[in-house]
Amino acid sequence: MQSQSVKRVVIAGGGTAGWTAAAALVQQLGPLLDITLVESDEIGTVGVGEATIPTIRTFHALLGVDEREFMRATQASFKLGIAFENWGRPGDRYIHAFGDIGKSTWMGDFHNMWLMAKSRGFGGELGDYCFEWQAARAGKFALSEASQINYAYHFDASLYAAFLRQKFESRGVKRIEGKIARVEQDGQSGHVTALVMESGAQVEGDLFVDCTGFRGLLIEQTLEAGYEDWRDWLPTDSALAVQTGPADRILPYTRAIARSAGWQWRIPLQSRVGNGLVYCSAHQSEEEARAELLANLDRPPLTEPRLIRYVTGRRRKVWDKNVIALGLASGFLEPLESTSIHLIQIGAMRLIQLFPFGGNFEALAARYNAQLRNEFERIRDFIVLHYKLTERDDTPFWHACRDMEIPGTLADRIALFRDGGYAYQAPDDLFRVASWLFVMIGQGVTPRNYHHMGALLGEQRLRRALESLKASISRAVAKMPEHKGFLERYCSSDRGDR
Ligand SMILES: Cc1cc2nc3c(=O)[nH]c(=O)nc-3n(C[C@H](O)[C@H](O)[C@H](O)COP(=O)(O)OP(=O)(O)OC[C@H]3O[C@@H](n4cnc5c(N)ncnc54)[C@H](O)[C@@H]3O)c2cc1C
Repeated sequence: MQSQSVKRVVIAGGGTAGWTAAAALVQQLGPLLDITLVESDEIGTVGVGEATIPTIRTFHALLGVDEREFMRATQASFKLGIAFENWGRPGDRYIHAFGDIGKSTWMGDFHNMWLMAKSRGFGGELGDYCFEWQAARAGKFALSEASQINYAYHFDASLYAAFLRQKFESRGVKRIEGKIARVEQDGQSGHVTALVMESGAQVEGDLFVDCTGFRGLLIEQTLEAGYEDWRDWLPTDSALAVQTGPADRILPYTRAIARSAGWQWRIPLQSRVGNGLVYCSAHQSEEEARAELLANLDRPPLTEPRLIRYVTGRRRKVWDKNVIALGLASGFLEPLESTSIHLIQIGAMRLIQLFPFGGNFEALAARYNAQLRNEFERIRDFIVLHYKLTERDDTPFWHACRDMEIPGTLADRIALFRDGGYAYQAPDDLFRVASWLFVMIGQGVTPRNYHHMGALLGEQRLRRALESLKASISRAVAKMPEHKGFLERYCSSDRGDR
């Protein structure tokens, strides 16, 4: 066996990215590594990032995280999807739910039958055939062995990193608090050799994980890996975040409400609601954005709106030499589909799969960079889709979104659906066929053609099949409890461990 030359892993940063990396590495490779995490209380974390997608459940299963304990510790609620309001046109509303739609066959997806039904004047809404969509719309949630429900969580971002620290620090993560003042590199290879703390202490390592947030202290400020700017496609560059008190009814979904130069999020937790306005500074000043956000809160703010500036895009190399960037240090796509935490988790898992035990960085880094590039680009396309498909013409921002040039990969996909009613999930796609359908149909794309599989049934049988499917989902949803009631019984933070 080759000797192990990479053993000392140093994680710079202790936000969601840093503690996710630490938890995954110690849980999966703990006995083989010496893991140190450096974080600065003075600098703090970005403090947002409260909505997730269902892949987080697989990640938590790998970490052995107990769901109730995690939900109690982070004030979490369940999330069945995202309601998009005012995106197609002002007054529109659709839900991108996490479930599958209807029953598909090898020949084609269910929506083809629904499109045929619509052309004959029946069939209702596409979401009627999705369990998670109906449950979200009814404000219900339950877990049972009988029904496989696909869901994610909303949680308090500052409590999440603390939860991971509390669970995983004692399993073998050495934590150092303090500010990194300087980064030492090897004169010949340029590899990072140590972090020099303000105290003068040196933290030496073989492999460094840069989780220092937007600043990218190692990957950019030291190695200058470069950044691909995607603002031509994802034009927002600022966010104002603010918290309000708990809602009477905790919705099991995120709300993403389009505003004049961006969109507003509402994320209901057990203890409060996270709110924010994402906007484009070329079309709206900070004062205007603040006024628009404050005018659209359900309750008085508990905090002063906090401004965060960003540049959408990705690091050209997320793994350069012996440094791997995770989280905001690796890029940011904007939070519309809640994908950043997923990208941290997938980045950490890929690092574990491609871990350079023998000090052979180059080939493994090339593979890692190619994988992450594809994943970032496919998610980018899905987010751009929401902006591009707007029919809004009421502000210069939406006008610009409607008219923008989009990546060819996305243009082809939209054309394929518009012309042939065909949607697909490519191997690197995070989002499934149902997700593409919810957004494309939700924002008004009506395919000119579709597969005629529905005609094989004949109109009467098609009608009966659709009615029966919709009714069986409705019956199941009717028996479910309200989301808030379920949360109180399942994982209320007031109830302690039981
Ligand atoms: C407006 C907005 C909304 C978002 N919403 C979502 C969402 O709904 N869902 C989602 O998945 N993601 C979301 N994200 C992204 C999400 O917030 C981040 O992916 C996540 O919080 C990870 O951040 P991080 O750990 O990379 O960086 P940070 O939280 O910024 O952490 C950086 C760490 O590095 C440390 N550090 C930095 N410099 C030094 C130094 N010199 N010395 C020592 N330590 C240092 C800091 O102390 C801190 O511990 C959102 C982001 C924004 C901006």
